[in-house]
Amino acid sequence: MICYLDNAATTKTRPEAIEAMVSAMTQEYANPTGAHSMARSARRLIEDSRENIADLLGLDLGEVIFTSGGTESDNLAIKGIHKLRGGVVACSSIEHDAVLHPVQQLDGKVIEVDADGIVKLDQVEALPDDTSIVSVMAANNETGAIQPIAKVAEIVRAKFPEAVFHVDAVQGFCWLDLMEVCKLADMVSLSGHKFGGPKGVGILVSRSGIKFRPTQIGGGQERERRAGTHNVPGIAGMAAAAQATAAKKDVGIAHTKELRDQLITRVPQEISDTHITSVNADRLANIAHFCFEGVDSEALLFLLEREGIMASAASSCASGAMESSHVLTAMGVPANLANGSLRLSLSYETTQAEIDHVVEKLPAAVNQIRGAKEA
Ligand code: PLP
Repeated sequence: MICYLDNAATTKTRPEAIEAMVSAMTQEYANPTGAHSMARSARRLIEDSRENIADLLGLDLGEVIFTSGGTESDNLAIKGIHKLRGGVVACSSIEHDAVLHPVQQLDGKVIEVDADGIVKLDQVEALPDDTSIVSVMAANNETGAIQPIAKVAEIVRAKFPEAVFHVDAVQGFCWLDLMEVCKLADMVSLSGHKFGGPKGVGILVSRSGIKFRPTQIGGGQERERRAGTHNVPGIAGMAAAAQATAAKKDVGIAHTKELRDQLITRVPQEISDTHITSVNADRLANIAHFCFEGVDSEALLFLLEREGIMASAASSCASGAMESSHVLTAMGVPANLANGSLRLSLSYETTQAEIDHVVEKLPAAVNQIRGAKEA
């Protein structure tokens, strides 16, 4: 049995997205910037996709910028604002590297989190007066901890009225009210492959009146804000996935939460010395994150994979190498406990049988590793 429980890393492509992409690839292959009727047709497909997404998010059309994914959207927001305005860039210590690394590269400020991985609001208040952009994610990709972005927005508006508030909502599309997020923030990053769309396509929401300097210049696409020939199939596939997700959202969240809650109840019952991460925080409905004492996550993932369980220890990493999670470190989780971390991330499609399989196989895997260590 294959249990795909790594949906925070990426999701299975939805049939609606595949259909839209195949149709775009076979029929709308003209360059949308061209002058002929086939180009106009491809352009129409992009603009229809933009309209669908803008409707779902409660935005004007000009507020939706198509990018190559969450990483580009994050970089464009941070670097684009800094290039235009200078000042101090700031983000929380648990941001995805796509935010954290640009902020660190620009010698920005990093806001700490508490033991549950929630951003410390007093540290947002204490940012320097010349802060130009504050970036706090909607929910963390490892722990699922939902951040108090309404409160962060309130502080930013009151204390730094000139600053831009950016939210990386990449993990939120299937689980949070994104219309609300777009109301609170000036800029929002989204990624198609986290909600059943293809990889390599995303969105940067930039609310009306927010100006930034583009980082990628050339052909003037996306109203001079993001140059490069549009990924027409990707954009069409992402829009189709967004619509399909929205149609299933309420039922999907309730279903997923019920299965996730079973995991966080049953796993600690079966396995001693299990810690549920961010236990006191509101968390996304699809993430169960544990730290097991006396366990090495690399070995655990290996044993789980042999049982057909695809999971993750920290955020997925291009090199495939296991590095200690900067998120758990920022939360003050001791290294020996962080080394025994496991993230199980579900989707609307996760089944009861998959959860039962995990609850059956996980204790033996943990015990095997603990036993080997003792021997
Ligand atoms: N931000 C968060 C919170 C993520 O989880 C990810 C992907 O894991 C990204 C950004 C990067 O998105 P993409 O894979 O589309 O570049």
